[in-house]
Amino acid sequence: MQNVDKIDNGKNLFQHPEYRDVLANKKQFEGAWGAIDKEKVAEVAEWTTTWDYREKNLQREAITVNPAKACQPLGAVMVALGFENCMPYVHGSHGCVAYFRSYFTRHFKEPTPCVSDSMTEDAAVFGGLVNMKDGLKNCAAVYKPDMIMVSTTCMAEVIGDDLYAFITAAKEEDGGVDLPESFPIPYAHTPSFVGSHITGYDNMMHGTMQQLTEGKKTEEVKDRINIIPGFETYIGSIRAVKTIVEKMGADYIMLGDHSDQWDMPAGEYNMFAGGTKLEDAADCINSKATISLQKYATPKTMKMVQKRWKSKESTTCNPVGLKGTDEFIMKLSELTGNEIPAELKIERQRLVDAMQDSYPYMHGKKFAIWGDPDFLIGVVSFLLEMGAEPTHVLCHNAPRGWEDEMRALLDTSPAKDDLNVWAGKDLWHMRSFLFTEPVDFMIGNSYGKELMRDTGTPLIYMGFPIFDRHHLHRYSLSGYEGALNMLTQITNKVLDQLDEETKGIATTDYFFDLIR
Ligand code: SF4
Repeated sequence: MQNVDKIDNGKNLFQHPEYRDVLANKKQFEGAWGAIDKEKVAEVAEWTTTWDYREKNLQREAITVNPAKACQPLGAVMVALGFENCMPYVHGSHGCVAYFRSYFTRHFKEPTPCVSDSMTEDAAVFGGLVNMKDGLKNCAAVYKPDMIMVSTTCMAEVIGDDLYAFITAAKEEDGGVDLPESFPIPYAHTPSFVGSHITGYDNMMHGTMQQLTEGKKTEEVKDRINIIPGFETYIGSIRAVKTIVEKMGADYIMLGDHSDQWDMPAGEYNMFAGGTKLEDAADCINSKATISLQKYATPKTMKMVQKRWKSKESTTCNPVGLKGTDEFIMKLSELTGNEIPAELKIERQRLVDAMQDSYPYMHGKKFAIWGDPDFLIGVVSFLLEMGAEPTHVLCHNAPRGWEDEMRALLDTSPAKDDLNVWAGKDLWHMRSFLFTEPVDFMIGNSYGKELMRDTGTPLIYMGFPIFDRHHLHRYSLSGYEGALNMLTQITNKVLDQLDEETKGIATTDYFFDLIR
């Protein structure tokens, strides 16, 4: 039995006799579902590994199994935490917000501030206006943020609550006590039955930048570049991009910089850390250029930048891998008129040298990979640069245009006929692909763990969310430094696997890299 003198973690705790008894006794309630017919279970399990099942699995329309995407408000919450002293506020059910907070907290291993107005049954019938009035006032009074960013859950969207009208009414009723007229409350409707977390990111970034820059356009165009990171879950990537921009001598504003918020040092707890200053965000409409680092996570925002801000230049770059980083740096050079400094050139040469060292290990290896559309474009480009074969590239939340772009990318490989793009498919589909057309390695988030156990394919943890490995999000995937990190992570996994396969004494141990 567990007590204060002997506290076991989960791994040991559930091996205690009392837990084992509970689990064994539970079986009697599972009989009606056939789960105790072990032979039948084994037979069906075997069938799910076949081509026959794969065809049926691909015809599945009415249900998603093991999704590789999250819902819209999650992306909206990330936007909010990228601005200084800004509280994310979700109009809707409390349970959804508990999920957003825990999702980010488990990935970043940091607390995630976010409030909800906890709509319940009465609000679902009569609308959530009362919740919004009380919630905004309480949020401003208790947490004293400089801005509150409002998004919605499914519930508020299904009943059709109008955020503009509700926020206006909340300010009117408050009478300027906690919510003065000038207090910024950007908002975005983020219905979760459309799109995914990247759609929510885009909607919220669009709503925020639209509101903050309203009436701020001046005659003067500032020699400055706005950079929008997108739904970036690697805080190391944000920092690596900033370092590159600074080395290029560019004046810049990172719009939505959550790298400090989710990387707080030990000591006294602060609710907010870092983030884009609100006056900078308001003035970004006067910058001469805007670069989005995630094309598919910012289409609506970039359309606004192009049409309404009328920036001299609005473009997208994906600074992942060698070519992606080269293009980003050359774009910065073009925009600033500055030469590429020797420091960056040497960094590039070192990366190329390292790629040459590891090339024999990655060349020809088959990979299955899943994740967000921009993440996949970047990492697959890098795999191709290393001569690897991305056999299954799966994007559950693929926006229009992504499939064609990915296909064109894969068509640059000599192995193109064996490389597949799977848009709109989930990880249960991926399981069928792995059984019928196996690969050497998988690259993906924590939800690949069961696939790894099921299919025996080694998993390289990359993407979002990553709950069951620590600190990977602190490293960069962007820039030359990021490419080197990916190279290290992937090559060492290849070597781990090689060690596994060559440890039979005097049978398979003729190959190993360790020589005295
Ligand atoms: S899908 Fe809807 S109900 Fe589920 S967490 Fe997202 S907002 Fe809430």
